[in-house]
Amino acid sequence: MTAEFEVSLESRVVRPDPVYLETSALGPWKQAYRRYLEDPDGFWAQYAGELEWVEPWDRVKDWEYPYARWFVNGKLNITINCLDRHAAGERRNKVALIWRGEEEGVERVLTYRQLHRQVMRFAGALRNLGVGRGDVVCIYMPLVPEQIVAILACARIGAVHSVVYGGFGADALNTRIRDAGAKVVVTADVGYRRATRIPLKTIVGEAVRNAPSIEKVIVLRRTVPHVALHPEMEIDFQECMAAAPSHVDPEVMDAEDPLFILYTSGTTGPPKGIVHTCGGYMVGTYYTAKYIFDLKENDVYWCTADPGWITGHSYIVYGPLAAGATVLITETVPDYPDPGIWWRVIEDFGVTVFYTAPTAVRMFMKYGDEWPARSVLDSLRVIGSVGEPLNPEAFEWYHRVIGQSRCPVLDTWWQTETGMHMLATLVGEPMKPGFVGRPIPGVSAEVVDREGNPVPPGTGGFLVLTEPWPAMMRTVYKNDERYRKYWTTVDTLYLAGDLAVKDEDGYIMVLGRADDIIIVAGHNLGTAEVESALVAHEAVAEAAVIGVPDPVKGQAVKAFVILKVGYAPSEKLKTDLIYHVRMSIGPIAMPSAVEFVLSLPKTRSGKIMRRVLKAQEMGVDPGDISTLEV
Ligand code: ATP
Ligand code: MG
Repeated sequence: MTAEFEVSLESRVVRPDPVYLETSALGPWKQAYRRYLEDPDGFWAQYAGELEWVEPWDRVKDWEYPYARWFVNGKLNITINCLDRHAAGERRNKVALIWRGEEEGVERVLTYRQLHRQVMRFAGALRNLGVGRGDVVCIYMPLVPEQIVAILACARIGAVHSVVYGGFGADALNTRIRDAGAKVVVTADVGYRRATRIPLKTIVGEAVRNAPSIEKVIVLRRTVPHVALHPEMEIDFQECMAAAPSHVDPEVMDAEDPLFILYTSGTTGPPKGIVHTCGGYMVGTYYTAKYIFDLKENDVYWCTADPGWITGHSYIVYGPLAAGATVLITETVPDYPDPGIWWRVIEDFGVTVFYTAPTAVRMFMKYGDEWPARSVLDSLRVIGSVGEPLNPEAFEWYHRVIGQSRCPVLDTWWQTETGMHMLATLVGEPMKPGFVGRPIPGVSAEVVDREGNPVPPGTGGFLVLTEPWPAMMRTVYKNDERYRKYWTTVDTLYLAGDLAVKDEDGYIMVLGRADDIIIVAGHNLGTAEVESALVAHEAVAEAAVIGVPDPVKGQAVKAFVILKVGYAPSEKLKTDLIYHVRMSIGPIAMPSAVEFVLSLPKTRSGKIMRRVLKAQEMGVDPGDISTLEV
């Protein structure tokens, strides 16, 4: 990276109500961050010490670059902290899970005690099938309480879960089952999506056909009358629970034993099987759930992700439950039966902390303010974002319309690999639209050049993490070479693969993926900059840009644009948009072509896949598109 990679750092500062900082459990960023810098191990030991351990650790960490071990020789079971700790104490009758089905009025509520009992029973059921420590269980389910029960039951007995998002097809499922050598698949007969039934069991039937490691398939039967089960292969979820003991002791795990394998989104290439371990992951997700969301005892917390992604693992299941929160889950999609559904859910259940993705925010912007206006959103306290850059325009809308200009917007940057939040603007701190924020206390991040030297504020570079952190991945499954590459490509730093820029206050803006960088006449452009400029135009709902070959400039920008409801494509609008980008960023970023589209290629977790656009444009093979939403 060279110094000509200059980025405009202009941003409005949005100051939240001081009460947020006064009541924050972590306190001001500066003090908390200093506490971390003065004694990094002591900092993490403090939060680990808030949790229950079967045996204490000897050392907080061993760092033998690029391999870390955290809470060395500590013994634990994560479910003790997610369940037993609450069920045995004052949170016994506290609501752990609220589930809302797709149909209005279809709801289930589980207290911590009830969830604890269900998890133990299902753990017993798995054990009855011969599943034990280190065995891999594939979970391919809709977003129902049983999915979370299955995940926690694996953790209870030391089995390694590999959750596969219920929207994937048979091929993707088969690959993941075989890759991990799963012994059992847990599924349901159907999932519901937009009032149609997704035949999960049928898909599993196809996926296990040439997956010899699979011994049994456990099926949650939701439809009545019940579907028939294959007599040798398939077992009913409820029946095997009923036959299991009601109490199952937690398996005592070493802090470094694997907890799960999870594949990345596949946005930039083939998905990577990320391996997380028990101890560090528990501490990292507990700390961030409790202190970064700043959860209070009475919060109703809703993260709209699916447990099939890391966001669901860390911030639906493990983090919030370790923190003893009330977690809402729902099978509803954001725009069915209409784009007001999520706001009705917030009003109905009094959601206080809401966590979603920019793709959803931009979709709601497209439909207009009238949908959220029909619901009372007064219960909301904090609104979060993760997954892609939250464009300044999307920030403004989210803050004004959903947060009613009152709720802090908690943008969080992190990855499947990091396991937990890395960058954020702490609740109560000044927010800068377009910037994620600073490294959270406990995390060291920097923006550097190719050699690993920090670049000055205003200069774009690579986003890196400079110190290990507890919830970091331990390896890439069956591909340790790939793991090492994260730590060896730029000096000895963890290379995230994103481009970023820092301002004078240390706030970091993510500029896009390093793979998607566009180089126009020797100037580097991050995709997010140009896309944010486009989204700031009143007619634009969503945009994606790619670099296309240009005989003079090397590359030129091509833009794909989705218009808001009420705007029609025209040549005049194309010219307006090109001019608009020129005025916002400069002539370098001016698109040479604009194409109006009705949708953009996205991963099933909602991220724009620019490499697919690029391949289409160039007429070449797009590579691994197993995670493309179809
Ligand atoms: P793959 O690694 O397979 O290409 P992926 O990187 O999309 O897929 P995830 O681990 O789900 O897989 O996503 C992490 C990435 O998401 C980050 O590297 C970053 O590019 C993007 N991201 C996450 N949160 C934010 C955020 N708050 N702001 C900007 N980008 C974000
Ligand atoms: Mg990635």
